[in-house]
Amino acid sequence: MVMSSASQHGSELKARRIVLLGPPGAGKGTQAELLAQELAVPHIAAGDLLRAEVQRGGPLGQEAQGYMDRGELVPHELVVRIVGARLAEVGRQGFILDGFPRDLAQAEALEQLVQVERVIHLVLSREEVIRRLSARLVCAGCGQNYQHLLQEGRCQRCGGELVRRSDDRPEVVAKRYDEQYNNQIEALLHFYRELGERRGLALLRTVSGEGSVETVRRRLLEALG
Ligand code: AMP
Repeated sequence: MVMSSASQHGSELKARRIVLLGPPGAGKGTQAELLAQELAVPHIAAGDLLRAEVQRGGPLGQEAQGYMDRGELVPHELVVRIVGARLAEVGRQGFILDGFPRDLAQAEALEQLVQVERVIHLVLSREEVIRRLSARLVCAGCGQNYQHLLQEGRCQRCGGELVRRSDDRPEVVAKRYDEQYNNQIEALLHFYRELGERRGLALLRTVSGEGSVETVRRRLLEALG
């Protein structure tokens, strides 16, 4: 009998409330999308939710936009409200959370909302992050990421225009790496190590983000198994 990959892995991979930590550009979004298909759980990307608010043009989006353009963290209340609303919508289906939490206060807020079952730290060096993000194009239609394509290329998924994200400029990329990741990650890792110890389980795993999408995908599946 041929089984879909979701059903093949569904019985082996029990964690359905998964957090991906890691620097911008480590591949969290790409991998979260693949895992979401594989495990049949929703992918929740904090950055995508915020960009959707900006596009809607309402007061929340207007408040978020300046922080995002400068590569700074959007204020706590705003991001917790937006991510919290999405978590409430997906309910018991589980989630793969990408880009949230990004600091200790967000991790504490998340723990008040749901009990996370697995936290994966996807690691990539600062040099590689800057190299990847400087070469990244995204589809203006569906948000799919691409590397090293010509500006005039079209999205292979939906045919949309490929554009550079305004916050993928080198000076903003470096700031995002430092302020949103490097300055925050130790406190987050400490929080999840302690939480795992209190619950008596290995909550936190580290996975290298180096290599091809397929290589990293296999490492992640192993870390979830
Ligand atoms: P990303 O798509 O994950 O790179 O996020 C794009 C931008 O959205 C970031 O540079 C931040 O300005 C903002 N952002 C995303 N996630 C968060 C978060 N968890 N907390 C605060 N700001 C965030």
